[in-house]
Amino acid sequence: MLPPYIVEPYEDFTIPENRAAMEAALKKVESELGREYPLIIGGKEITTKDKITSYNPSDTSQVIGYVSKADEKLAEQAMQAALAAFEDWKRVPWEVRARYLIAIAHKMRQRKMELAAWMVWEEGKSWIEAIADTAEAIDFHEFYAREAIRLAGVAGTHETTPFPDEQNELYYIPLGAGVAIPPWNFPLAIMSGITIAPVVAGNSVVLKPASAAPVIAAKYMEICRECDIPPGVINYLPGPGSSVGDYLVKHPKTRFIVFTGSMEVGLSINEEAAKLAKGQIWIKRVILEMGGKDFMAIDGDCDLDVAAQSIVQAAFGFQGQKCSAGSRAIVHKKVYDEVLDRCVKLTKKLKVGNTVEYGVHNGGVIDEAAFEKTLSYIEIGKKEGRLMVGGKKLKGAKGYQIENTIFADIKPKARLAQEEIFGPVVAFIKARNFNHIIEIANNTIYGLTGALVTNNRKHLEIARQELHCGNLYFNRKCTGALVDVQPFGGFNMSGTDSKAGGRDYLLLFCQGKSVAEKFI
Ligand code: NAD
Repeated sequence: MLPPYIVEPYEDFTIPENRAAMEAALKKVESELGREYPLIIGGKEITTKDKITSYNPSDTSQVIGYVSKADEKLAEQAMQAALAAFEDWKRVPWEVRARYLIAIAHKMRQRKMELAAWMVWEEGKSWIEAIADTAEAIDFHEFYAREAIRLAGVAGTHETTPFPDEQNELYYIPLGAGVAIPPWNFPLAIMSGITIAPVVAGNSVVLKPASAAPVIAAKYMEICRECDIPPGVINYLPGPGSSVGDYLVKHPKTRFIVFTGSMEVGLSINEEAAKLAKGQIWIKRVILEMGGKDFMAIDGDCDLDVAAQSIVQAAFGFQGQKCSAGSRAIVHKKVYDEVLDRCVKLTKKLKVGNTVEYGVHNGGVIDEAAFEKTLSYIEIGKKEGRLMVGGKKLKGAKGYQIENTIFADIKPKARLAQEEIFGPVVAFIKARNFNHIIEIANNTIYGLTGALVTNNRKHLEIARQELHCGNLYFNRKCTGALVDVQPFGGFNMSGTDSKAGGRDYLLLFCQGKSVAEKFI
């Protein structure tokens, strides 16, 4: 019997022992930078000539590792390996599969600082963001293991309405071999979460990690193999999304695709997956979690400290590179100037640099494309609003650091208020009244996260109904969802609302089989 699931705590780095442990982990990782990592197909290591080079975005002279790069031929091999492994894995009982997850979580916990340190190096995450990512990965394993056990207990005997002279049962069985395509921004949590959920439900997976974060995925594979995940159940296949990812999406034997990433790529996957390939005998199940233009809404009567701190944390945590990042601050005119002023002051205190160093809040954005994109939106912002702080690349930076940037007086329909930037830029939008706040908040194509800060109980109740997003928060920031505390997934163009880390999630990777025996 497993103890109840509890959320993995974050280490407090103001405590000297924790700080020392993280420093030691960062040093250990530093001594391992620049190594090579093979593909893992059917349990075999395959090294290719062509490599993906992973850099530290805060100092691009630092190479994190060289990872073998798959092509379509290797993608075919990986799919065949997954198909072969599925035949045995689907028969492994739910509770046995669940134990693999507990074992993986246990090993991740033992190496928590080290895994976090890899993300500081490979992604420019601050220490606390890297710990949060690691903790979330552990949580996904602990939680889905318990969910699998729950489904095992109930799934064989899901209640159905009794019928005379018959025994009726409903079972949940896995789908088959599928493809997991994660983004780079939660390179351990989302990557491992969307891989292990189908696996615990009895499916096999080809994991195509994001090219900006392949080393942390290799570390996760290392742990899965240490825990004896059978060969072919998870195949590690780094490679270009546009060729390898696309090949797997179109493959006739692909039974499901679980994707998290941008709206553009998500929609194209949806389209390609809908086309019937030669020899295909099922409708591919497609689970898409995509972008956001999330909001911090601030009412006329509210706690101004909570408002300002939440806006700044939600906008600039991990350089604004979260799908849940609060890139719009929609503020009631009564408190607009005051909140803006407080946010500017708080933002100026955030240190931008190389996050390997203790106390640095922001590192570089992930790559050159993100750097150029963010700077181009800053130019747009200068035309659409008033630059209050930031607005340029960090002087003397060795990577892709951009100053945390606030624009005031952005119109609700301006590009800065509508388009996902995925960088450290927040648009302040002035609202006439509470109804106007709601109207502005709901007025994008997305619907992922949002928050309202208010002291008004009536407004809280109206907002509960009217604010249309998958994850809504009151009197706190709109980032930082915890597994099974706030199951996560968005509305509209933010995705299929799959609610990762929630109690319906594993069923997305199953099909229900109803069996009736009539006693004659
Ligand atoms: P992306 O769409 O560029 O890439 C995501 C993944 O898709 C990568 O592994 C990439 O290699 C792969 N890919 C690219 N083209 C492909 C194709 N044609 N076929 C198959 N696979 C392909 O996204 P990203 O830059 O890695 O991540 C950032 C985006 O992810 C943002 O829009 C962010 O909002 C979103 N995101 C959403 C959530 C959520 O839960 N809703 C969580 C994290 C990130």
